Amino acid sequence: MDSYCGARTAVIVGAGVAGLAAGTALAREGWQVEIAEVDASTAMSGWGLCLTGPALRALDELGLADACLAEGFGTSGITHTDVEGEPAGEVPLPRLIGARRPAMAGIARPVLHRILRVAAERCGVVVRRGLTVTAVDQQGELVRVRLSDGTLRRVALMVGADGIRSSARRLLGLETSPVYQGQMVWRALVPRPSWATGVHRFAGKADTAGLVPISDGQAYVFLTENGAEQSVLPDADLAPRLRQLLGAFPGRVEEILPLVSVPESVVRRPVLTVLLEGAWNRGNGVVIGDAAHAPAPQTACGATLAIEDGLVLARELGRHQSVREGLHAFVSRRGQRCRTLVETSVAIAGLERAQRHRDVYPLVDACHRLMAEPV
Ligand SMILES: Cc1cc2nc3c(=O)[nH]c(=O)nc-3n(C[C@H](O)[C@H](O)[C@H](O)COP(=O)(O)OP(=O)(O)OC[C@H]3O[C@@H](n4cnc5c(N)ncnc54)[C@H](O)[C@@H]3O)c2cc1C
Repeated sequence: MDSYCGARTAVIVGAGVAGLAAGTALAREGWQVEIAEVDASTAMSGWGLCLTGPALRALDELGLADACLAEGFGTSGITHTDVEGEPAGEVPLPRLIGARRPAMAGIARPVLHRILRVAAERCGVVVRRGLTVTAVDQQGELVRVRLSDGTLRRVALMVGADGIRSSARRLLGLETSPVYQGQMVWRALVPRPSWATGVHRFAGKADTAGLVPISDGQAYVFLTENGAEQSVLPDADLAPRLRQLLGAFPGRVEEILPLVSVPESVVRRPVLTVLLEGAWNRGNGVVIGDAAHAPAPQTACGATLAIEDGLVLARELGRHQSVREGLHAFVSRRGQRCRTLVETSVAIAGLERAQRHRDVYPLVDACHRLMAEPV
């Protein structure tokens, strides 16, 4: 059955950070939104995430920064430690949501997703799980979307927010592929050491590592492994291998090392980037978040860009008469910022692979400065 949904109706593909933020922002502008999420379960797995100042600012616009700060761990700066294990300076971060609120927060990924999902559903967004999109075609001012349960929707807008390997992108005929940056990133959940009240970064001779508190009781360890082959290790090898890599770092990392003991709490992922050249839309379909622009995780800005996309998309659609005009305005407002961040993250990955860690700091600073600019 072809169900006509009408003007100001949208189907979003993917209930990740981008899809849920866009759903909430659109619903608040009066759109009727349905999200098709391929994952049938709400029990999202995952480790921690850094919500930098710009992420908190974007979440604040959705009314969600305080909820994230209440369940996460607010911090005010980054403590750097050099290759010898000696302190190498504290970098205070700008407080973009006010002098009395933290500059940044660590949060468990499932907690952030729950906060975003509950907010979206409260605004009337319908999230359908175990469902994807199998075909998309433009019909005049509407877009016809076929879902994997065989039903059809004729809506004014289709948003592909289905991540770095986006199917929606392919269905819209927008071609790009993730690029492997020659690095594997590790994350492990550990009990929070009492001294970890901010983000700690440790420079190593070959790799970089760090610690981010995400609640009173928990933190996550991160490590970027340079020059590694893109491969999958057996689960049983993950914790011992991460301990071995951390063993190369002096100083406080030695205290963290024995905390990496629960195999299920360790993940290893390839560093992949995506940058969609040209327009991100075809007709009334558009891709946002990692589907359009995925920076390497070292810049900790992918989720921020995804949330900002949702806000700007809703704003531009509200300002323009037609969906197409709104989408053109959206893409032109977002293009340069996202391109610069992805390209800078690729440059950072290259410098890290060449073990030029000192040259990385100005680029990370440049990312923070660019992200702090108004959206
Ligand atoms: C190891 C690592 C650490 C990171 N750390 C940070 C950090 O500290 N701070 C930060 O800002 N960013 C970080 N990022 C980047 C951040 O995770 C991403 O940029 C962000 O999650 C992108 O959101 P998204 O919604 O576009 O995509 P995703 O989060 O990937 O969500 C996509 C959603 O779409 C669903 N989906 C996929 N395919 C389909 C389909 N065919 N049909 C329907 N649904 C589908 C998925 O199940 C998922 O729910 C990190 C990334 C990695 C890999």
